[in-house]
Amino acid sequence: MVTATASARKKTNGKRPRVKAQEPMLIGGKWVDSVSGRTFVTLNPCTGEPICQVAEGDKADVDLAVKAARKAFEEGPWSKMTAAERGRLMHKLADLIEENADDLAALESLDNGKPYKDARNIDVPLTVKCYRYYAGWTDKIHGKTIPIEGPFFCYTRHEPVGVVGQIIPWNFPLLMQAWKWGPALATGCTMVLKPAEQTPLTALRVAALAQEAGIPDGVINVVPGFGPTAGAAISGHMDVDKVAFTGEHTTGQIIMKAAAESNLKRVTLELGGKSPNVVFADADLDAAVEGAYFGLFFNQGQCCCAGSRLFVEDKIHDQFVDKMVKKAKARKVGDPFDPATEQGPQVSQEQFDRVMGYIKAGKTHGAKMLCGGNRVGTKGYFIEPTIFDNVTDQMKIAREEIFGPVMNILRFKDIDEVIQRGNKTFYGLAAAVWTRDIGKAHRLANSLRAGTVWINCYDVFDAAAPFGGFKMSGIGRELGEYALQNYTEVKTVTVNLGQ
Ligand code: NAP
Ligand code: MG
Repeated sequence: MVTATASARKKTNGKRPRVKAQEPMLIGGKWVDSVSGRTFVTLNPCTGEPICQVAEGDKADVDLAVKAARKAFEEGPWSKMTAAERGRLMHKLADLIEENADDLAALESLDNGKPYKDARNIDVPLTVKCYRYYAGWTDKIHGKTIPIEGPFFCYTRHEPVGVVGQIIPWNFPLLMQAWKWGPALATGCTMVLKPAEQTPLTALRVAALAQEAGIPDGVINVVPGFGPTAGAAISGHMDVDKVAFTGEHTTGQIIMKAAAESNLKRVTLELGGKSPNVVFADADLDAAVEGAYFGLFFNQGQCCCAGSRLFVEDKIHDQFVDKMVKKAKARKVGDPFDPATEQGPQVSQEQFDRVMGYIKAGKTHGAKMLCGGNRVGTKGYFIEPTIFDNVTDQMKIAREEIFGPVMNILRFKDIDEVIQRGNKTFYGLAAAVWTRDIGKAHRLANSLRAGTVWINCYDVFDAAAPFGGFKMSGIGRELGEYALQNYTEVKTVTVNLGQ
């Protein structure tokens, strides 16, 4: 088990954490090896070398985990606990995550490659806030009384949907787990989580903290493993009531199909994007450059909502590009544990190859590369911050999600044109607009078909504000009050008053 006892809790203070040679999985409150006895390796993306072995779950382990979750849902103390008590345990979990913030951030950084200071200052605090936000909801989830015709009393109950399967990606492992566990715990569900194969370590660590917080056995189960085996066993399981997934839209389609062909379990999907970020000539130029830079390069460009189609108005194009290139060239790429580092490695060889493939495509298709384009160093998966100018709508790099530090700049002339071009994608996750004209800003906010629109800002996230996609960027919303709907069933109760 990834140790979480008070005595074993050592503050790393930004140093590489020590990890055991092999990590078991959590099923029904017990830390166990996989039924098959198999393990898989999680790698350090800085070096491509192993960090440790992790128990590799598949269908047999998912079956056991679902059984444990079902038992906890129907018979365990969890189902009898008051809503307020559930909230207290969630607050305790948030406190423990906060106490272990240095350690968790270091583990996240080691496994994922993101700069330690980002993990410590962004991922962990947002994770804590997410649990606290949903801890506050536990005793505020309730139905309505409804004035139906006749001598009846009619009311609704918002009941937990049941056993929830959760499948998450590697780009924000701690945070994606919190986005899934927060509303599931608040509503009284029980859960089986499969973390991404590339980044299983912090999920196991937080599960240990949840045990320490007193969340009863079986409520939280973590089965690390691979998508086509462990993931598919969750999405196709007859006794899982809902599956919540974050990842690629093509995987989302497989999951939805598996849900349909098994027990019609509820499905929520948080998928990719190709988000338009629109900079008008009347914007505060420096703020727009800063926001667009952050909105693309943050997290090594591995953000579902990355502003990966950067539309810049003709009149300011040259000025904007000069400033952006200067910033990108100065971006410090390197060791995530070096406090000066702004960009770490991509998460894996596969992602590295995929991003380098898009860089090649950009060059081949005639976009103008202004900086970057190369690997950094000879070890690990580091890529130079790369900027393409003169990108046109039909180029591959303007249509497909790159998920790396590759910025595409597209020119535009007027507002109608940019709205039409901004919407010319099957994605609809996020969008942003930079302008000092309030009318223009709202016109874009209303016209762009996306789940989130940022005005004069980018990547502003808050546990209270819903997030999710239009079109092929997803189904349902995470965060905020909206997420609770996806974890509850509405029950209508009608009482004969006998008059
Ligand atoms: P992915 O390949 O779709 O993987 C996501 C998760 O699904 C992983 O845990 C994966 O397992 C699992 N999976 C793969 N095949 C499966 C199957 N047949 N059945 C069930 N589960 C399966 O995505 P990724 O490459 O890890 O992440 C990058 C993508 O996620 C990007 O497209 C990005 O835009 C999207 N994303 C979206 C959001 C959002 O909030 N909308 C947030 C983050 C990321 P393995 O561990 O074996 O791969
Ligand atoms: Mg790893």
